[in-house]
Amino acid sequence: MNVQGVDPGRVAALLERERAAWVEARPKARALHERARRSQVHGTPHPWVAQFPPPVPLVVERAAGARLHDTDGHEYADFGLAATSALWGHTHPAVVAALRDQLDRGTVTMWPHEDQVWVTEALGQRFGLPFWQFTVSATDANRFALLVAKACTGRRRILVFNRAYHGAVDEAHAVLTPDGVARTPGVDPHGADISETTRVVEFNDLGALERELAHGDVAAVLAEPVLTNGGAVIWPEPGFHRGLRELTRRCGTLLVIDETQTIPAGPGGCTREFGLRPDIITMGKWLAGGIPAGAYGMTDEVAAGAARYTEVGDGGLGSTLVGGVLAVRAMRAVLEHVMTEQAYAVMDGLAQRYEKAVGAVIDEHELPWHVARLGGRVSYAFLPRPPRNAGQMYPQVGSELRRALWLYLANRGIVLNGMSGAALFSPLTAEADVDLHNRLFAEVIDELAER
Ligand code: PMP
Repeated sequence: MNVQGVDPGRVAALLERERAAWVEARPKARALHERARRSQVHGTPHPWVAQFPPPVPLVVERAAGARLHDTDGHEYADFGLAATSALWGHTHPAVVAALRDQLDRGTVTMWPHEDQVWVTEALGQRFGLPFWQFTVSATDANRFALLVAKACTGRRRILVFNRAYHGAVDEAHAVLTPDGVARTPGVDPHGADISETTRVVEFNDLGALERELAHGDVAAVLAEPVLTNGGAVIWPEPGFHRGLRELTRRCGTLLVIDETQTIPAGPGGCTREFGLRPDIITMGKWLAGGIPAGAYGMTDEVAAGAARYTEVGDGGLGSTLVGGVLAVRAMRAVLEHVMTEQAYAVMDGLAQRYEKAVGAVIDEHELPWHVARLGGRVSYAFLPRPPRNAGQMYPQVGSELRRALWLYLANRGIVLNGMSGAALFSPLTAEADVDLHNRLFAEVIDELAER
């Protein structure tokens, strides 16, 4: 018996069989990948797609509702939903109508527009912070939030939680090793010198946090309120967020809450669900229903600091595309018509149906796995209990088992998030697709589990 509760020989055999079946059934995807390799690094727009279970990437011809249609004529229920960028579904009618209408009125002008004000007011009401700036992505929101935090505090360092992910933010690519803080493996050493820029502690470890903040040189803690990256949903322990807020205040450190992947928790993210009081909040992905956009919100004090910092020039916070009217129109549609209590009730119900079925299969086979849910986001991980932090989770990431499960399901019309195996539920997700997943999951575990 393997530590993951399944026979590694069976996993390897299943993976090989499913890989062969995937490639065999996708001649057009194969040909396109060959062509793409001549003009794109790894032959994909995203490096991680090349590291991903299928040897030939999924080539999507059309995405509609919560479904994908590939170039070889296969159809899939999409539970990956572009890692929350397509959380509302690929073609939410309210977003599509707004975009169609806006296309005849311009896409980006670099001048103010009433919809921008409508959106910043709505974001303020939803998330409880008064001042907002637009960005082009969540990565940019985090980069700019950290810059503003440094400008406000006059400090250079940041602190992140071990194995968290916040986008392509040089100084956030830092992990804990037995020898201390190190660059995240695979990140180029010529970027930020993280020994100068970054402190790292495990999530849920207030003692370590207190120790690191006591140096008095940390401008900001950048934190997901619940860790979502790496294949599990890792909840804060009772009192963790209170401690995080008290310690950051006491040490003169700003608290940046990154809601980019935790918005399935509720219409105001974890910030509203948990009653958090961050100094800065960051987001992107889902915000404009799939149109590239992000935003960061600030307290009055942080906004005053940002205003001083940008009195001359743009302070390094600029981008000509920010607040483009097409993206802003999509944001308005999302905030006004899509992120409703009713939509969240649908997403939650579907996620619970999935969580319950996965949990039942884990119990039936007495697998040392667990399943966890944050509103409309569900992950199962190959650990018997939810981990306290992502350091405990990390050895399970990218395992052969994860790849085998992904491919088995994808060959039969179910696509999960390719990196983490997480499932997301949109208001357009069909209950029948959840049931199809649940049946296939029971089937594949039957094949893999030891009896
Ligand atoms: N924050 C978190 C928590 C993320 O998971 C990600 C991306 N997965 C980002 C920020 C960056 O988002 P993007 O790649 O869209 O800029």
